[in-house]
Amino acid sequence: MPELPEVETVRRGLEPSMTGVRIARADVNRPDLRWPFPERMAERLTGTTVERLRRRSKYILADLDTKETLLIHLGMSGRMTVSGDPLGQFVYDHPAQEKHDHVVFHMANGARVTFNDPRRFGAMDLMATGTEEAHPLLAKLGPEPLGNTFSEDHLISALKGKNTPIKSALLDQHVVAGLGNIYVCEVLFRAGIHPARKASKISAARIGSLVPIIREVLLEAIEAGGSSLKDFRQADGELGYFQHNFRVYGREGQPCVTPDCASRIKRITQSGRSSFFCPTCQR
Ligand SMILES: [Zn+2]
Repeated sequence: MPELPEVETVRRGLEPSMTGVRIARADVNRPDLRWPFPERMAERLTGTTVERLRRRSKYILADLDTKETLLIHLGMSGRMTVSGDPLGQFVYDHPAQEKHDHVVFHMANGARVTFNDPRRFGAMDLMATGTEEAHPLLAKLGPEPLGNTFSEDHLISALKGKNTPIKSALLDQHVVAGLGNIYVCEVLFRAGIHPARKASKISAARIGSLVPIIREVLLEAIEAGGSSLKDFRQADGELGYFQHNFRVYGREGQPCVTPDCASRIKRITQSGRSSFFCPTCQR
């Protein structure tokens, strides 16, 4: 499932083809993804210009000149790819449409942006620009981990008295938005905190230390173009490569990367998901 760095990578990849560009035609090839598409979606998108592409948590938000905002969620297996050449310097053919190409944006600059989603857990919706924080999918989200409102004070007070394991607490989207399983495993390794430790039993200083580590891990992952496990691709079809930098995720039984640590990475299941950690480095 794409996490924040993967969605940010896709957003950045779409910008040259979409920002400031008119959608000459939108094809909507089915009535729904995870939920029904908004009414007359193709009609409401056709002819509009994309003024801005933003991201909130794992959602891409395209502000249109009709004062509507298109929300895009990649779900489990959604992929947005660009074909064609927005700068018009070369002649590229667009690939033939594929089975799971559910929504296609034909941009006025010649680019074609395709939303493909075999499992259809993705979503799209339209809302008045400026009302997105009240949208049911966004209303309860905590602060953006890379934004100014995500601070040590926020995290310390959000986790105060929480009797859940720190791993689950950090996956709680009310606490911080956009963090998923992979990056929480990596963050806890760098912080030296055992994933099963109860949040309430960790000192405020150690909780606070998670804030810069969360930012560091996410920024490194964005820099690497996200992590390509299973389906994820960047908008240009390239793979991300942060998976080569994982220190614990997916490394069960392999030696810990900490110099002089003789332990091997362990895996436990927490709330149905795998947690990877070093039993020596993480306490
Ligand atoms: Zn270790």
